[in-house]
Amino acid sequence: MKEDIYFLDGNYIEASKATISVRCHAFLYGTSVFEGIRGYFNKEENQVYLFRAKEHIERMFNSAKIMFMNPKYSLDEYLDILKTLIQMNEYKENCYIRPEIFKSGKDICPGLDENDSVLIFTLKMGDYLPTDKGLKVCVSSWNRLSDNMIPPRAKISGAYANTALMIAEAKKSGFDDALSIGPDGKIAEGSAMNFFLVEGNSLVTTPQTSNILVGITRNTIMEIAKNELHMEVVEREINRTELYIADEAFFSGTGVQIAPIGSIDYRPIGNQKAGKYTIQIQKLYNDIVQGKVEKYKKWCLGVY
Ligand code: PMP
Repeated sequence: MKEDIYFLDGNYIEASKATISVRCHAFLYGTSVFEGIRGYFNKEENQVYLFRAKEHIERMFNSAKIMFMNPKYSLDEYLDILKTLIQMNEYKENCYIRPEIFKSGKDICPGLDENDSVLIFTLKMGDYLPTDKGLKVCVSSWNRLSDNMIPPRAKISGAYANTALMIAEAKKSGFDDALSIGPDGKIAEGSAMNFFLVEGNSLVTTPQTSNILVGITRNTIMEIAKNELHMEVVEREINRTELYIADEAFFSGTGVQIAPIGSIDYRPIGNQKAGKYTIQIQKLYNDIVQGKVEKYKKWCLGVY
């Protein structure tokens, strides 16, 4: 079988040749920043659209800035590399791209020295969590990291040990995924996704200051809920017990897309399936990411 092509430090190479040293800082200390970008196949147009790739690369530049990293390429250069990789790998289906900027120095002391590398790999990808049933969710016993620890605003690989602990605990306890509480005692987000609840006609999500990654899907949902569904969109702190009495709840993220939540800590949410607003948001989102809504085609970058 033909191997996928990855991009490593300026070279397009076969996946098995894209290797790093076991002494690489990113491996030893988690000092890497990354993005997850989805490509959606539009059958009618025979096209793969990368969704909001520009915003993802811009967020990676911000993560890199926080971690004293040099992104090495401009925004346009990154967008070209993303397109080239999908073309070279000849994907004509839904897929995912993972760009990483990482510390590739090899001395033993952790630090943020000048040795930066860039890796970009791609894979074919369907759903990450079910999007057609109500997920069973718990509030994690693990606290979310905060801005003065490993800043959640930056998408730093080392921070995903926090995510991994939450997911492992949730799965071993029979849940699909987890919600996290920050050191401030307020709801932050899901293990690797943002969180929304519906209260009457209002869509509520946690603010940037609640130790979240400021999601691009989150922003997309806020825009379409306001502009297309005429909902009131509120960013405010959320307390744990508000979860239990929400009319609807769902996760959002590039990987997870829009995943309805059916119960939280054993309390049913609505009828334990996607609620009426969640269904409308999901439908709009699915059309938009495939480049089927003219008004939002500006968010879709055609690969071919
Ligand atoms: N929070 C965390 C911790 C994440 O890993 C992700 C996935 N990137 C999100 C939120 C959602 O962000 P986005 O919608 O930009 O994918």
